[in-house]
Amino acid sequence: MKNIAILGATGSIGLNTLDVIARHPDEYSAFAVSAHSNWKSLNELCKKHMPKYAILVDEEAANNLRKLAPKGVEVLSGENALDDIASHVQTDFVMAAIVGGAGMSSTFSAAMAGKRIMLANKESLVLGGALLMNAANKSGAEIIPVDSEHSAIFQCLQAGKEGLNKIQLTASGGPFLNMPFVSLSKVTPEEACNHPNWKMGQKISVDSATMMNKGLEVIEASFLFNLPATHIEVIVHPQSIVHSCVYYDDGSVLSQMGLPDMRSAISYALSFPGRQLSGVEVLDLTKQPPLEFFPPDMKKYKCLELAYQAIKQGGNAPGTLNAANEVAVDAFLKNKISFLDISKIIEKTLNETPTQNLDTLPSVVENDQLSRQLALSLISKND
Ligand code: NAD
Ligand code: MG
Repeated sequence: MKNIAILGATGSIGLNTLDVIARHPDEYSAFAVSAHSNWKSLNELCKKHMPKYAILVDEEAANNLRKLAPKGVEVLSGENALDDIASHVQTDFVMAAIVGGAGMSSTFSAAMAGKRIMLANKESLVLGGALLMNAANKSGAEIIPVDSEHSAIFQCLQAGKEGLNKIQLTASGGPFLNMPFVSLSKVTPEEACNHPNWKMGQKISVDSATMMNKGLEVIEASFLFNLPATHIEVIVHPQSIVHSCVYYDDGSVLSQMGLPDMRSAISYALSFPGRQLSGVEVLDLTKQPPLEFFPPDMKKYKCLELAYQAIKQGGNAPGTLNAANEVAVDAFLKNKISFLDISKIIEKTLNETPTQNLDTLPSVVENDQLSRQLALSLISKND
């Protein structure tokens, strides 16, 4: 029996993880569940899955849950509680499914404690990729990607990295794929969050619409698979059936396919190196529309270009890109800036932040905070 700590349990990845776990009650138990402040949803999850711990970052929300939580569920509060549970002696696997840089600290705790990290929180790698990979190597922690593209590549690479030529991440292109650039200035948060293939949280949905999601994924892939950006390509594939490809020198290309349902990647991260039922329907290729592939329009998807620029720049640039993106996406969701302002804010933040190397976790956190402040001040000037 493996004890699973699901950090970000009330979100899209968290709920899908609980769905897969519940299909295998003899293999996995939901040891801990967390949310930021949504105590009502967390309470429902407690009643259904009876974890040992329920964590709410927000103190007041935790007090509300303490009054209602089923007997036997201990309610913890504060950010430190996330780190404590990620490294808890009884935790076997950590599902890192908090959204944004807020997930970094607990991911590092799990890495230093030698846990299996099922990594959905790509922002952890974008912020502190080299440090995180080193921490995991040192402790023996396993990092199994949950992002569907990275899970696909990870699965393909089980055949080995020898003769590897390049990897190719597929991108749906998001809800505005067929919209002309000029119309993008008018799109609303609701339209941006209405992804054609995947049901996801708001932040990643906007990231998909700007294609910053793919940019963050290029950075994520470079750290996970130890590859330079020149060996990581992006290709638009609107049907989201081919989840990514690995090209070898002998002309062979391996890819992993499946319906767009995150439970496949989540299930693989749980059962690796084995496989198990995940609840995902079997793919019937005869019933799929034709599969299309084309190169991304880098002018339209400026955020993708900025991500490539940040990874080439190295040092603090990916962290600055991520921080500015989080602040800009939040402002867009609150109708404070337009969709096209997102990339402008990120570009300005990147240009105004001197490049430096970040060798420690506190320096990563400091760069994150300074970049957020800078992005926020640029947004207020934008008014
Ligand atoms: P979501 O918005 O649906 O859920 C986020 C979860 O994090 C919630 O449980 C929320 O309570 C918690 N949370 C939010 N802010 C927090 C904070 N400051 N401190 C602690 N907890 C906080 O997000 P999601 O779509 O499930 O995405 C989660 C992560 O997985 C993201 O990093 C995303 O990029 C990645 N991911 C998601 C998908 C997907 O299909 N949803 C696919 C690939 C990768
Ligand atoms: Mg992805």
